[in-house]
Amino acid sequence: MPIHVDLCPLCGASRSSLFDQRRFRDQPVTNRICENCGMVFQSPRMTDAELADFYQAEYRQLYQGSTGPNDKDLAIQRERAGVLVEFARPVIKPGVRHLDIGCSAGLLLQGFAEAFKAIPTGIEPGEAYRNYAQSSNLVVFPSRDALLADQPERFGLISMAHVLEHIAEPVAYLRELRERLLTPDGWLLLEVPNLYAHDSFEVAHLLAFSPHTLGQVVQQAGYQVKYTRQTGLPRTGLFPLYLQLLAQPDPGASQAEVQPETQVRLKRRLGLGQRKVITRLFPGLAWQPIETAIKKDPA
Ligand SMILES: [Zn+2]
Repeated sequence: MPIHVDLCPLCGASRSSLFDQRRFRDQPVTNRICENCGMVFQSPRMTDAELADFYQAEYRQLYQGSTGPNDKDLAIQRERAGVLVEFARPVIKPGVRHLDIGCSAGLLLQGFAEAFKAIPTGIEPGEAYRNYAQSSNLVVFPSRDALLADQPERFGLISMAHVLEHIAEPVAYLRELRERLLTPDGWLLLEVPNLYAHDSFEVAHLLAFSPHTLGQVVQQAGYQVKYTRQTGLPRTGLFPLYLQLLAQPDPGASQAEVQPETQVRLKRRLGLGQRKVITRLFPGLAWQPIETAIKKDPA
């Protein structure tokens, strides 16, 4: 049975109104907007147990009979890693201890290891992906609890690419990372779909971030946002599908009140409208081809 989300995941207010309703793979997906702060979140949503089952079913459906991720998926991950390496380059110190949460096949970890001699550790719940990453000699834990049980040294860089939108309580989650796993002068690196360009209302996305609400979530968790960027790369150079953010711990930041966002519906309509026009005007340029002819590391 789906559960209703009674309190806004960003500000905790109880008043929300309907924002978007659709079907995704035969399941209804309803998103609401907080009337206090403008955060968009899925409600009702699957329970945590149902979400776990869903991931399991997706995984079987997509990868049954296969030992790992497919070429297209790997190619996208590799290209995304390259984009994030460039975004983070100004702040990353060589040899940093790097934790990637939701590390998938490990290509982001490898990208940072190659670019910065970063020392990689991953968390990946999906078994096929985890096995793939481990076959590339990466240290990958199945969960954050499993990593914590290992009592790791703190990390100077924690990245989450396309993970935060799957997390029901993002403020508490990021706060716990800061308190238990990140060094006091470490960096948090995030990438999420952009509510104003990416049409990503799907059943596993519990949150839909705008540039503003992403920054507010990070701040409420006790970080200071240092750099942000909107980019469509590696998929497109023409509209900002993704939000990227670099932040550092600043426990005092969580004392500030949530700054509300207004005109969220209008901004989304304008953003998606712009994307539609650009795609129509430049059909050959809007979406970049994915280079699937990649070299696989010898197993
Ligand atoms: Zn709110």
